[in-house]
Amino acid sequence: MSIDKSWFDQMEQRIPHGEVRTRFAPSPTGYMHVGNLRTALYTWLIARHAGGKFLLRIEDTDQGRLVEGAVEVIYATMRRCGLDWDEGPDVGGPVGPYIQTQRRDLYGKYAQLLIDKGYAYRCFCTGERLEQLHRDDPNAKYDRHCLSLTPEEIQDRLDAGQPYVIRQRIPEGTTTFRDAVYGDITVDNAELDDQILIKSDGLPTYNFANVIDDHLMGITHVVRGAEYLSSAPKYNLLYEAFGWDIPTYVHCSSVMFSDPATGTVRKMSKRHGDPSYEDLVAQGYLSQAVVNYVALLGWAPHGDIAEQEFFTMDELVKAFEIGGISKSPSAFDMDKLNYFNAAYLRNLSPEKFVKEAQPWIRQSVKNEAYDAGAIAALLQARCEKLSDIPEKVNFFDALPDYGADLFTNKKSKTNAEVSLAMLEAAVPALEALPQWSQDAIHGALVGLAETLGVKNATLMWPVRIAAAGKAVTPGGAVEICSILGRDETLRRLRLGMEKLS
Ligand code: GLU
Repeated sequence: MSIDKSWFDQMEQRIPHGEVRTRFAPSPTGYMHVGNLRTALYTWLIARHAGGKFLLRIEDTDQGRLVEGAVEVIYATMRRCGLDWDEGPDVGGPVGPYIQTQRRDLYGKYAQLLIDKGYAYRCFCTGERLEQLHRDDPNAKYDRHCLSLTPEEIQDRLDAGQPYVIRQRIPEGTTTFRDAVYGDITVDNAELDDQILIKSDGLPTYNFANVIDDHLMGITHVVRGAEYLSSAPKYNLLYEAFGWDIPTYVHCSSVMFSDPATGTVRKMSKRHGDPSYEDLVAQGYLSQAVVNYVALLGWAPHGDIAEQEFFTMDELVKAFEIGGISKSPSAFDMDKLNYFNAAYLRNLSPEKFVKEAQPWIRQSVKNEAYDAGAIAALLQARCEKLSDIPEKVNFFDALPDYGADLFTNKKSKTNAEVSLAMLEAAVPALEALPQWSQDAIHGALVGLAETLGVKNATLMWPVRIAAAGKAVTPGGAVEICSILGRDETLRRLRLGMEKLS
């Protein structure tokens, strides 16, 4: 049953050496967790900081969890976040294929090699038997029932076509592994289960495939979530069984989320309805704001830039060091993300902002006569996320049914009577304008306030309330009137006068 040694030698010869090589290895679930995005980012940053290679590998051996189109979601997400890969399913590379189901035959050969070396064995136990074991003790490890089968018994079962899995044979003793973030961790091997390496469908488990692939792909730094920490000793035992170098492990602490409904803090998870990267984008967050914020979830810059919050991708590449990764769990804070996003929105060029904002503006401003560019200019400094926009500008298409009490404002020194007088004066002044532009409207209203001997605000407040029908608006009276156009402005101002008389 043994495999020709030269095949293994050939596999070894393909492995690139002498460079930092990292990989992001998502399972195609159809969305990107915030925690996964952070793993992808840190993995990418470690490679780019070192001038090494960043690989994308698709871990799709769990056939029960396959989601149509999920690989495309991964590509699209990585691209939007600026995480480019040097090797991967679509671009190829020297150690492909980069999709685990396409590597299927290879895992079986390595499992056989372990069987030959005595580090693995076939297990023919039925599902029923294993269930019984767990019914008796939910934490029970596999009882090694099949470890004692003789070669003849094994052959008989194989000949009879009995299904089997291949299990790792955990040796006695202790295992120590080193993690760049968590330090040295030692476990008693007695705590480790003879885990399944190859399932009865012939496909590897994650626990086996990650070791084989990381080795054969020449991965130098394995970056992943801390949920894999407890399995690391078993991976080390596999590396040792094969006689392979162990990569540098970089386990990243969990991203915690405070549930707005209950106030409880728990691990951020899509299952609990917490936002994924795609949800955040759909809610109007910019990719680069999310990426910048996520970079700081569990990593901190050092030295001169210890206080810096805003980073371009190039700056992150330069600043990112593994030593800055924290082992304490980090908290995902929506308010902080809003703060980053608002700053990124403000920093966009006006043209870029219009492009981003337009679809959101058009959700509520369907009347094409109202210029989306002009509306966007009012919004850029005034929104935390793009999804705030529709509600902020809905008054353009439909004047809200507002109460006359909005005209009363202490700071602007207005009440119903004053407001009526202001609108009565404003209507003819605006009606007489030869040209309808912001400058012209501004000049007319400021001139009118002077003639009337009132503060600008005393005139602007009622005009803005009548034009928009709400107390808080992006932009002032002049901008809003200018976008509404003369006829609609005058109609609304007259309606305001009716409400006041
Ligand atoms: N496929 C695993 C996941 O999506 C990858 C873990 C790893 O990076 O090793 O969680």
